[in-house]
Amino acid sequence: MVDDALSSPGQPALRRIRRLTEAYAWLSSVAFAVQLLVMGVGPGRFVLFALVPLVLLSWLLRPMRDSWLIALVECAVVHGAMFVLPTPQPALGFVFAVTVQRALRGTDHERFPLRAMPALLGFLTGFTVWLSVTPVAVTGPMVASVVMPLVGLAVVATALHETARSARLVQDAHRTVETVVRASPVGLVLVDAEGAPLLHNDRARELLAWSEDAPGRVPCPHGPDITACARGCRAAEDAVEVRVTRADGSTGVLAVQAVPVEHVSEPHTLVTALDVSKRRELEDQLRTRAERDELTGLAGRTHFLHLVDAALPAGETVGLLVIDLDGFKEVNDAEGHEAGDWYLVSAAERIGRAVGPVATAARLGGDEFAVLAPGHDVRDAARLATRILSELARPLTGLGHDTVIRASVGVAVSSPGVGTADLLRDADTAMYVAKREGGGRIRLFRPEMGERVLARQRDKADLRTAVSDGQLVLHYQPIVDLATSEAAGAEALVRWQRPGHGLLGPGEFIGLAEETGLIVPLGNKVLAGACEQAMRWREQGRSLGVTVNVSTRQLSAPAFLPSLDRVLKTTGLPPERLTIEVTESVWADGAAMRGLMEVRETGVRVALDDFGTGYSSLSYLQRYPFDVVKIDRSFTNALAETGRTAGVVRCIIDLAEVLGAHTVAEGIETQAQADWLRNAGCAYAQGYLFGRPDLAENWDAQPSVPH
Ligand code: C2E
Ligand code: MG
Ligand code: MG
Repeated sequence: MVDDALSSPGQPALRRIRRLTEAYAWLSSVAFAVQLLVMGVGPGRFVLFALVPLVLLSWLLRPMRDSWLIALVECAVVHGAMFVLPTPQPALGFVFAVTVQRALRGTDHERFPLRAMPALLGFLTGFTVWLSVTPVAVTGPMVASVVMPLVGLAVVATALHETARSARLVQDAHRTVETVVRASPVGLVLVDAEGAPLLHNDRARELLAWSEDAPGRVPCPHGPDITACARGCRAAEDAVEVRVTRADGSTGVLAVQAVPVEHVSEPHTLVTALDVSKRRELEDQLRTRAERDELTGLAGRTHFLHLVDAALPAGETVGLLVIDLDGFKEVNDAEGHEAGDWYLVSAAERIGRAVGPVATAARLGGDEFAVLAPGHDVRDAARLATRILSELARPLTGLGHDTVIRASVGVAVSSPGVGTADLLRDADTAMYVAKREGGGRIRLFRPEMGERVLARQRDKADLRTAVSDGQLVLHYQPIVDLATSEAAGAEALVRWQRPGHGLLGPGEFIGLAEETGLIVPLGNKVLAGACEQAMRWREQGRSLGVTVNVSTRQLSAPAFLPSLDRVLKTTGLPPERLTIEVTESVWADGAAMRGLMEVRETGVRVALDDFGTGYSSLSYLQRYPFDVVKIDRSFTNALAETGRTAGVVRCIIDLAEVLGAHTVAEGIETQAQADWLRNAGCAYAQGYLFGRPDLAENWDAQPSVPH
């Protein structure tokens, strides 16, 4: 809107005059033609006839130009008409209209009255001369002699009025432009092709540090003068940002842009300068935030990956270390998030210190850090990793008790053509292997590690599906009362019917389930399945208790007790019919131990599985009461070999009796083992001799318990 008003002031008025004169030209030319035809052709008139098409032709061909030739032809027509014709008004009107038309077509409207003046004067003189020599009544038809001149006069008056108005509008538009330019917060300079300033504002002087003493030369922050600057800016599509020092010594950033101004006859350029210091400052802050990890101040993940991207094509070997803190989750859970943050910050400081200026340390997220070490081969990278681990291992005293930071480090070194993602994945794989091997160690990446990790990831995904899709199967193994040789209960042992792999034993997936936390939903399924089975046996009149293996990780989860309660309620199984089997590792886990005691309070019985293989601490056995102690299979196997094993087993049986617990001997394969254990006072036994783990529906087909 504003643009239109400024660029074409008075345009509608000029259009109106143009239409008016066009109509008048047509009217005159028709009258002129009629006049010539009616009057017949004398020699003078013949010349006139020949000239008229010339005028028309020149008008059509070169309507935009002032040309002497055209002016001459027009002059000849005017004078010829005056001398030859009795009523020259139509011819004069026609020539006048043509001239006005031509004048109006140019772009320089201000000069229009000047250019139209000769035709106007010719018209008026001719008309006056004719009026003075010829009485109106006798000279010809009314239209040619009276109406035509009057219409011509009206056209002239309107044209003069409109052009004056148009000139005023142009002036107003100039004034508006000047005001806008002056008020603009953007520095504006309009320069001509030589770089001379045509229009500018004070803001431009201020921003470009353009002193009043140098009026003709506009300085530019990036170029010797404004023309070079404009050229440079025009080459760039967007504004070019330049850092400048202001008069008061402070620095800022200017966005300078040059736009060609095309609707004037000479090439002009509008240079704009905008102070973008504040925006730039904010952007810098945001960029720093994105580049830095907020908590630790180390490089952030995205920025770090960019750094690796930039380092790789340089050709030298690049070492990449991925560091994952061991046991951070425990610190976070036990000591709270603030302590967790402090722990991370301490770790970051130590990593940064160990790395020094030769490499860049970053926090990739959570408790995972990384180090980019350009120019480090395997040996250098391993040395750096050792330095990091020993720096981390220095005593840390801020948590109210002494602790050390342990971490697993994976190291990968670039080879030609390797990408950032590959290198990071390799270092990550090596770290993962270090973690799986117990943590607190450094592992260098080897290609076969990648395959193992991939296979493990596949297993993980499949196991998740197995738990949700019912691929888990429960087998039951009889626990026999050695006195009566009757089955007193059954141990539920889980199997995985894995598509394409057959039936997998727990040894192949329980470790993975524990590592991934899948043990919790898996354990719940086993618990529910076993309790339902025990209820079915009960309904069939078989008095069989059921035993379920529960891992330490399950027990330490706060949700274990509620889910146990729920299962007992929904199945209706009396709690004393259920035995939970735990291994000695439970002693090392306070939360699991507390969970176990709560389980015991519900009336569910608790068995210590594989006794003798783990902590084997008799003092623990004394301190925490168990209902059942299961003597590990390794003792049963060794019974026949040494007298010492027999002594130990006898001792365990006696101790359990003193503590009020039953003993179950595991892995009985021979009748001799069963007899020895019965004689030694062992109450129950379990083993292939009595029955292999099998589906509940096959239980009746098991080899019968020997008497
Ligand atoms: P466990 O609780 O000690 O189970 C006894 C294991 O000994 C079973 O192996 C059983 O098949 C095997 N066994 C029983 N009698 C004999 C015998 O006479 N000779 C020999 N050589 N082996 C015998 P399985 O089923 O492979 O289970 C292995 C372990 O997996 C179990 O040891 C238990 O710790 C764990 N497990 C099984 N099911 C579950 C479960 O649902 N949850 C958890 N957390 N662990 C489970
Ligand atoms: Mg067991
Ligand atoms: Mg066992």
